[in-house]
Amino acid sequence: MADLDKKEIVDLLVSSGEELFLRADKIRKENVGDEIHLRGLIEFSNICKRNCFYCGIRRDNKNVERYRLDEDEIIKTAKLGVEAGYKTIVLQSGEDDFFNIKKLTKIVEEIKKFDVALTLSIGEKTKEEYRELKKAGADRFLLRIETTDEALYKKFHPNMDFKNRINCLYNLKELGYETGTGSLVGLPNQTIESLADDILFYKKLDSDMIGIGPFIPHPDTPLFGKINENNFNLALKMMAITRIMMPKINIPATTAMEVINKEGRMIALKSGANVIMPNITNSDYKEKYEIYPGKENLNNKEDDYKKLLEEKIIKMGRTIAKDKGFKKA
Ligand code: SAM
Repeated sequence: MADLDKKEIVDLLVSSGEELFLRADKIRKENVGDEIHLRGLIEFSNICKRNCFYCGIRRDNKNVERYRLDEDEIIKTAKLGVEAGYKTIVLQSGEDDFFNIKKLTKIVEEIKKFDVALTLSIGEKTKEEYRELKKAGADRFLLRIETTDEALYKKFHPNMDFKNRINCLYNLKELGYETGTGSLVGLPNQTIESLADDILFYKKLDSDMIGIGPFIPHPDTPLFGKINENNFNLALKMMAITRIMMPKINIPATTAMEVINKEGRMIALKSGANVIMPNITNSDYKEKYEIYPGKENLNNKEDDYKKLLEEKIIKMGRTIAKDKGFKKA
């Protein structure tokens, strides 16, 4: 395992990346093997009380048609996912207080009856609430720090508290969740040095999963603008360096990568990633969960998409994991 310091990380971030990607791919193979874990993602509500400057489902975006799945729909979608072969279900949503802990624990308990690993990505909660959800059976939790540049964090997350986000991550770790964090790469005024700090933060937290995605401007947000194609390469380098520094963790090839580059997720799988999270939300809702534009065109027909993806993976010389894909010891 390479313990890179900040300067070494910065040097790699400004390099062309070619050697870095090969090195990350080798380390991925040696440490987590050729298996790719497919996690079925359900986006169960796009209602959000937060107002993050970059996000298409932010509270103040009046152009989004809001939806929430009811409890039975969520459980039914998860069941279909398990029947289709997914060994992990990921429940993601905006911060929607309609889903209180009582409702959420019920959903978690029902889904856990399907003998599947369950990941939550539902934002900030109190430690007690995280504890209840863990007790109900949740295995993993994804909460990106987004950026470790506190001033930038403050600017883009009105009425949110950077320290609380960090606390949430440490609480999740302490409660025994497989804890995932990660960053948005290419935010306006984000520096290379702060990206290096992000990686050092993942390491310090001893995160079990890292999801890194390029920032994609959404027209209905304060950070609207043109897509910066360089964000793809920079996100890829962030991901590859993370693999080198944290060889055993799970790293998804994120959907946002595919929005910028048609083969983005496949390229990511060759540069350190070992997880893909296909969207299994019913198509009626999928396009309304528009955190950034371009995503709605991806994997529209769930069954076909999974088959296509599996074929691509096999063609790459990789295999589809048959287990739940917990972090390797
Ligand atoms: N509310 C939960 C939370 O805060 O963790 C989960 C949902 S949130 C929409 C999921 C992720 O979407 C965020 O962590 C953020 O990094 C990503 N995201 C939001 N807007 C984005 C954009 N414009 N480009 C790329 N990723 C974006």
